[in-house]
Amino acid sequence: MNTHTVAAYTGVEDSQMPTPPSFQVGDGLLLVDPQNDFCPGGSLPVASGDAVMPVLNAWAAAAERAGVPIFVSRDWHPARTTHFKDYGGTWPPHCVMGTRGAEFHPDLRLPAGVGEAEDAYSAFQARDSAGRPLATLLGERDVHHLYVMGLATDYCVKASALDGLTAAFQVTVVREGTRAVNVQPQDGEQALAEMRAAGAAITEE
Ligand SMILES: [Zn+2]
Repeated sequence: MNTHTVAAYTGVEDSQMPTPPSFQVGDGLLLVDPQNDFCPGGSLPVASGDAVMPVLNAWAAAAERAGVPIFVSRDWHPARTTHFKDYGGTWPPHCVMGTRGAEFHPDLRLPAGVGEAEDAYSAFQARDSAGRPLATLLGERDVHHLYVMGLATDYCVKASALDGLTAAFQVTVVREGTRAVNVQPQDGEQALAEMRAAGAAITEE
């Protein structure tokens, strides 16, 4: 069973990196799976996956300054899951709970408090430590518009953005804060096109 966890996020340092917009009331920030195994050196590395961390940090710092709620999801699997090749799935083992690969990337300025979760690629399947799904957490914080970024564009970011739209959130995907797996070379671009077609706004590079 594949699992995602999600935690509300409190407190970041300032970053030098500009970019973020002026947030508005009703905005929220979702950082998707910024974990070691999805970065170079990990077991399912996304090319330049680690390059998103300064972007995520900058957005998180700006969101914190603006009082905008920040959520971070993570992929979180048992050692045996049908998600993995050896047990009938597609992927090499990655983000196995309790391993270094499942930890947030060290460049990410985040606390590691996390709860247990559900299966799927989407952060909307994730739950916090009290078992509440992301949509509930967003509702409690009066979030209507979600900025989404992280890893990887063509899987968890896409699934999270599409589920957000389905759940009637406005969604903006922050392109410079994402990187794609690109099993096929165009997967990342195609994922962005799908999200756009479904109603997401995509930021320019
Ligand atoms: Zn996974």
